[in-house]
Amino acid sequence: MAKVQETVLEIDLQALSQNYTFLRSKISQNTQFMAVVKAFGYGSGAIEVAKHLESLDVDYFAVAYSSEGVALRDAGIKTPIMVLHPLPIHFEEIIERCLEPSLYNVKTLKAFIDASEKKGQKEYPIHLKFNTGLNRLGFWENDANLIAEKLEETSAVKVVSLLSHLAASEDPKEMDFSSRQITTFKKVTEEFHQKMGYRPMLHMCNTSGILNYPEAHFDMVRSGIGLYGFGNDVKFQNKLKPVASLKTIISQLHKIEPGESVGYNRAYTAIGHETVATLPIGHADGISRIYGNGNGAVFVHGKKAPIVGNVCMDMVMVNVSDIDCKEGDEVVIFDSKHTAEALAENAGTISYELITSISQRIKRVFLP
Ligand SMILES: *Cc1c(COP(=O)(O)O)cnc(C)c1O
Repeated sequence: MAKVQETVLEIDLQALSQNYTFLRSKISQNTQFMAVVKAFGYGSGAIEVAKHLESLDVDYFAVAYSSEGVALRDAGIKTPIMVLHPLPIHFEEIIERCLEPSLYNVKTLKAFIDASEKKGQKEYPIHLKFNTGLNRLGFWENDANLIAEKLEETSAVKVVSLLSHLAASEDPKEMDFSSRQITTFKKVTEEFHQKMGYRPMLHMCNTSGILNYPEAHFDMVRSGIGLYGFGNDVKFQNKLKPVASLKTIISQLHKIEPGESVGYNRAYTAIGHETVATLPIGHADGISRIYGNGNGAVFVHGKKAPIVGNVCMDMVMVNVSDIDCKEGDEVVIFDSKHTAEALAENAGTISYELITSISQRIKRVFLP
């Protein structure tokens, strides 16, 4: 592998294939796989990730917003794309770019039917999302009559799937709650079937749902974090491989005398004779200030170097007093061994937030 000479996010496409294969091995042959590539493919690069997964015959993609789907279409992605959180202002664009909205209340359903009729559509594919306990987006259980009324008045749209989302699929303490969500979902979808006389695809599992609730795989599953290598559980750590590695270099070394301070607000004071390395990455790149003052650490030649003082916008300083290193040496912020999950958890957050925060100014390098 070429020597790193600037900050890069390396994306291991082989690891992506492996994670996909592992997750697929957890579902039945008849269950479809929707790959969630929202938020720039969890920071990894939505287009490259989607192209790779399309070559592996993934069934569906999901993005959060319309613009993310447009970017995939512009890049030539042909696989169906569901938009998880479509906003009425984008409904025309959604139709023009063959994106499929996940509609979540009567207002969005009506507005989308109007947009479809205006554009002369017949049976345009839509998805309906039900709230079964997350209380974020979704129709209520007793909206079934209103939905049926709206759908019976039009042939411009066709419901291809019904979905819901688990609130705590990774948490074994919330198994009863998750089971109740599953039961509620079965009930509302059965009611839809009764009223409408047909059964769209059903899906409710995210990555942890796939791993923990095999009884809820239904016709499709939606996986994001698992594809990128995190299973939210030590049990799956050796089955999944983090695809993204964030690496940088040492820009400068400083020898600090006891009592001297480092960085803004003089937040760190050297105890002894110390060596501090400055790295070209900061909070504007997604290394939030929460990682400052020893809450986060990086690795230089495999040795841990804690972040000292406050994280700056474009730089961070780390303590390398006990590490034999020089300017230009490679630094690992996270990789498949020193994981983003561990770094995030030590600072009180989650892998999802850290990996999706890595700024777009950091170069992505895709390893075949
Ligand atoms: C983001 C998202 C997912 C993917 O969840 P992971 O935990 O990353 O697998 C699935 N479904 C919905 C509705 C989402 O918003």
